Amino acid sequence: EPSCIVGQGRLGLLSEIQTPVKTEPFSEHYSLMPGKELGRGKFAVVKKYVEKCTGKVYAAKFMRKRRKGQDCRLEIIHEIAVLELATACPWVINLREVYETPSEMILVLEYAAGGEIFNQCVAERDEAFKQEDVKRLMRQILEGIAFLHKNNVVHLDLKPQNILLTSDSPLGDIKIVDFGLSRVVSHKQELREIMGTPEYVAPEILNYEPISTATDMWSIGVLAYVMLTGTSPFLGDDKQETFLNISQINVSYSEQELEGLEQTAIDFMKSLLIKEPELRATAEDCLRHPWLEKPAPLREGEDISNAALGQTVSLPPNTGDQVQGESE
Ligand code: ADP
Ligand code: MG
Repeated sequence: EPSCIVGQGRLGLLSEIQTPVKTEPFSEHYSLMPGKELGRGKFAVVKKYVEKCTGKVYAAKFMRKRRKGQDCRLEIIHEIAVLELATACPWVINLREVYETPSEMILVLEYAAGGEIFNQCVAERDEAFKQEDVKRLMRQILEGIAFLHKNNVVHLDLKPQNILLTSDSPLGDIKIVDFGLSRVVSHKQELREIMGTPEYVAPEILNYEPISTATDMWSIGVLAYVMLTGTSPFLGDDKQETFLNISQINVSYSEQELEGLEQTAIDFMKSLLIKEPELRATAEDCLRHPWLEKPAPLREGEDISNAALGQTVSLPPNTGDQVQGESE
């Protein structure tokens, strides 16, 4: 389901960028790699390119400047500005350069070879994320979001299609992409009515109430649910039903999908899927949540307990066998 912007003002957009905008032909410096495009949204298409002089691979995001008869160059400049602001954060995709043609802006981005985490979320259970993977990736996502929130940026479109992986097997690190709906939140101005993707949208968006960093935290709760279970907690048969499920917080924690999950994982989701934005956990709170606490590193010769592994391990009773654990 594509994201859409219902209404947009000039509120919350950054307008200053440092990256020089090149007007020479993009194809002079990059050649298209064979294969299918990496992704496509309503107004953008992302394709794999190789830089001619270095042989390095990049993802080029081609963004139309005119959308529905409106000039959207300022929105694109904002997206570039947010990427620049997040350069210091390892969990946000890197921007290399920017080109402009009469109809498009081209963002040359670091290539995330592992694709969207979406693929693993919906995969068969044996291909899907293990609970330990979800924890590691969720920590990275939260560190990325904490960085943005510290800088008063809300992403507003967090979903498995906008979280990419540096590699897929072995499972790499995450990269947050797509700042097309992101906004700067300030205490002076209230921001409302930016619409994300139905399944991941917070109740305050549906109720036309102010948007804040807590709006992203709702989506993190949905994301955790999807990564852990492979099912979308509020998804209905149509948009109306999905919206109704969200506004009624119609989510059950006793479903069969949740079987085998740690209680702390369920507590984590419950701390985010709360109607009142001000009661939701912040990104910093989440990083301190017991579910995401790193197990204490094991010392040489130390026994491994189930608790230390954070997952169920069956040990043969009283065989005196040594269990090898990885220490980080
Ligand atoms: P849109 O605003 O159209 O959703 P995105 O920035 O989300 O644009 O890009 C669309 C899709 O393209 C992503 O969901 C992802 O699958 C792919 N994509 C985007 N950036 C990259 C990248 N740097 N590396 C690899 N794939 C990417
Ligand atoms: Mg996207």
